[in-house]
Amino acid sequence: MTTAPAHSYLPARRRTRRAIAGMLEATGAAQRRLFDEASEVRDTFFGRTAVVRGVIEITDVCVKSCLYCPMRVENRYQRYFQRSDDILQATDAIRQAGLGVVALQGGETPASTTLATRLIPAIRQAFDDDVEVLLCLGDKSRADLERLKRAGADSYILKQETADPELHLTMRAVPLSSRLGCAHDLVALGFRTGMGAIVGLPGQGTASLIEDVLLPGRIGAQMMSASPFIPAANSPLSGALMGDLGLTLNMLAVMRLLHPSALIPAVSALEKPEPGGQVLGFAAGANVITINFTPEENRQKYAIYGSDRFVVRREHALGTLRKAGIEPLFGRDALASMTCGSTQGVPRERGPQSMGVGSIPLKFCGSDGQVRFERASKGPSFRQRGCSADAGANLRRIRDGRD
Ligand code: SF4
Repeated sequence: MTTAPAHSYLPARRRTRRAIAGMLEATGAAQRRLFDEASEVRDTFFGRTAVVRGVIEITDVCVKSCLYCPMRVENRYQRYFQRSDDILQATDAIRQAGLGVVALQGGETPASTTLATRLIPAIRQAFDDDVEVLLCLGDKSRADLERLKRAGADSYILKQETADPELHLTMRAVPLSSRLGCAHDLVALGFRTGMGAIVGLPGQGTASLIEDVLLPGRIGAQMMSASPFIPAANSPLSGALMGDLGLTLNMLAVMRLLHPSALIPAVSALEKPEPGGQVLGFAAGANVITINFTPEENRQKYAIYGSDRFVVRREHALGTLRKAGIEPLFGRDALASMTCGSTQGVPRERGPQSMGVGSIPLKFCGSDGQVRFERASKGPSFRQRGCSADAGANLRRIRDGRD
């Protein structure tokens, strides 16, 4: 059965769920071939380049309760809302660094709509309108999204985190359908829309990861990502195993093959299982990197992957691109590349009912505040926690350009 949109680079026989599962499980020489093919597709569609974005984390206030996140509402600590002046100062630092994409990211709170709506026109003005304003602020009502669009927002990232309805409900305490409804609104309102998956969540199986790579095409997203699950302190999943780096990179490579013209970042979380993980992200077909411009006093407070998260600074981003042999795209060049990467006209199948995900029986134990899963998934479950010695050596060979 063919399962990916018709615009996919892959021939039909390689778009079946079985073929995708095979690619996700690739190791050794097969994994190197997968990465080579994915980077070749990236190079064909974009040249050997990557868009460089700047992000400002405007608030760590969040009303949601995701099991993997220390910023969940139950955690009581001093939260911040970045002051408008500080955000505009950080915006200026992004402009002076020559970047053309300003991302405003935050926990999910209705208050961020008002803040962003007020700031976006000022950000556009600071760039003489020559800027992409990207938001990543969680679920919003359609009315709020319309306000943000009218204010001048161009793009919005709303990661599905997991495309498996049952796992999504367990992990986020909200139905997947509400997130997908918001994603459909984003596309309908003309936002360049991003989605993304966490790889290695407890209870996640092959079938749901396959859905994670197919879902962005169904929604009509033009940006997508794969991040390894990072067990963060002060979250109910702090004791779980870390997501597997090799599998995350395979997800990224398959996304590139299925969605050739997508913007796919090498996310900062790739650095957690293995230093140099972002270089590997580019080896697997990524074409975006994001530099953190959050004012210093709040940078460590933004604990999305825990307080010891990896923060990407300018030198690290440029060093990563240099090591990966990728040319950074700034300002206008980045905007032009993003326009070329547009996937307008992608066929969409609307609604979660079209996803065809099998149900995954989970048994959830949390009486002592910790979360355990007694039954993982219907399909074979991928190995978790970093890399085995062999897989790690293979990835290091790829990262260091040895073969
Ligand atoms: S992952 Fe996002 S929505 Fe979930 S608790 Fe953390 S900040 Fe809130």
